[in-house]
Amino acid sequence: MPLAPYLSRYWDAPESWTLETYLANDGYVGLRQALATGPDEVISTVLDAGLRGRGGAGFPTGRKWGFIPQAPGPDAPEDPEASDPAAKPHYLVINADESEPGTCKDMPLMLATPHVLIEGMVIAAYAIRASHAFIYLRGEVVPVLRRLQTAVAEAYEAGFLGRDILGSGFDLDIVVHAGAGAYICGEETALLDSLEGRRGQPRLRPPFPAVAGLYACPTVVNNVESIASVPSILQHGPEWFRSMGSEKSPGFTLYSLSGHVARPGQYEAPLGITLRELLDHAGGIREGHTLKFWTPGGSSTPILTDAQLDMPLDYEGCAAEGSMLGTKALQIFDDTTCVVRAVLRWSEFYAHESCGKCTPCREGTFWLVQIMRRLEDGTATESDLDRLLDISDNIVGKSFCALGDAAGAPIMSSIALFRDEYLAHIPDGCPFDHSRSTVFAR
Ligand code: NAD
Ligand code: SF4
Repeated sequence: MPLAPYLSRYWDAPESWTLETYLANDGYVGLRQALATGPDEVISTVLDAGLRGRGGAGFPTGRKWGFIPQAPGPDAPEDPEASDPAAKPHYLVINADESEPGTCKDMPLMLATPHVLIEGMVIAAYAIRASHAFIYLRGEVVPVLRRLQTAVAEAYEAGFLGRDILGSGFDLDIVVHAGAGAYICGEETALLDSLEGRRGQPRLRPPFPAVAGLYACPTVVNNVESIASVPSILQHGPEWFRSMGSEKSPGFTLYSLSGHVARPGQYEAPLGITLRELLDHAGGIREGHTLKFWTPGGSSTPILTDAQLDMPLDYEGCAAEGSMLGTKALQIFDDTTCVVRAVLRWSEFYAHESCGKCTPCREGTFWLVQIMRRLEDGTATESDLDRLLDISDNIVGKSFCALGDAAGAPIMSSIALFRDEYLAHIPDGCPFDHSRSTVFAR
């Protein structure tokens, strides 16, 4: 399958991030189309295109927008205290807190072409009748913060933001907000708590943000890539979008390849491409080595082996193999990698990032790390493997949010696939030489 560069088609152009370059590449054409129709028609177009959320869960974007209570109409006065959700202000929040290990698509997108996100936000806000929108950005990425702030200022200056956008009567203000760099703030309700000025911890769902989100008002929370895909759908139509990908997972998407691959980076392709095809484009596994295991969507997704090289990388294809497409972060590990060491590193990450709100995740992730460390240093016993599985089983599906599931997934899948390698750690610790490792350097 060939690549399909659309979002990334001029990332290499000089000053790709400026409004001038964006306008020379069909910038803000989709917005004009949207404003020429009505908000409900925009929602129908995105629904017909079948765009699914690119943050990991794959929830249909148009359906999420459709949950926002639309009555009593865009001109009705907004009342934050109203008991009827439809009478409250509506908000759009962009989840730009990309933190999933291995995931690196939204940051390059915002650096290269911030205006495609801004244009998508104006269209989405128009559709859900919101006059305030926020970009919640991971705080450590200061260059992205500056790039977004500059682009937002350019958009105000050119009349794409602010009052009476392009003479349509529609108003929108965008705030770029930098978080403090906590993985849990990528969970949408923790993100909203953080945006409101509180410690970021997940809220009970339902109610989902579409009903009670930011300041308890109806809120759409969408991922960066999802919203950046919207202008092209408005410009070219749902059939064009559906001409790529599969029936249930239509369109193009950004896959991030990292690890032991000859040319790591972002590869944009129709959904349903396989890892074998992506590796052909990326120069294959590094010379002289073979694929040992990989993740389809970051470390939260169960690991796979070369048996899944021809699995379609879409939501259904990954689910059929017992994994998840997730964030499309393909981390590639070759035959030199110790699977126990790789899983230990992920476990340390989840234990560190656990917010502590619920017992299974707070206590369980701590104990997973202790046992994984025992395996690496040669003090584990065979019964520790059962203990790892038992603790994982007590975390997965029994925690308050998806972080707990994520912590258990790599342990359970790696023991199922590489039990012998785990057992080989028991007498004397890790048999691998990590001194020249390219993936475990601290
Ligand atoms: P989810 O399936 O619970 O929800 C997905 C979206 O659909 C949410 O916005 C939710 O509000 C909405 N939704 C679902 N059901 C709804 C309903 N009945 N009514 C209204 N809205 C509804 O998934 P999640 O817990 O939000 O996210 C989990 C995913 O996040 C994982 O699959 C993982 O891949 C991904 N993730 C991504 C990153 C990253 O860096 N991008 C980091 C960690 C996890
Ligand atoms: Fe916090 Fe972990 Fe519980 Fe999520 S699963 S609420 S991160 S302790």
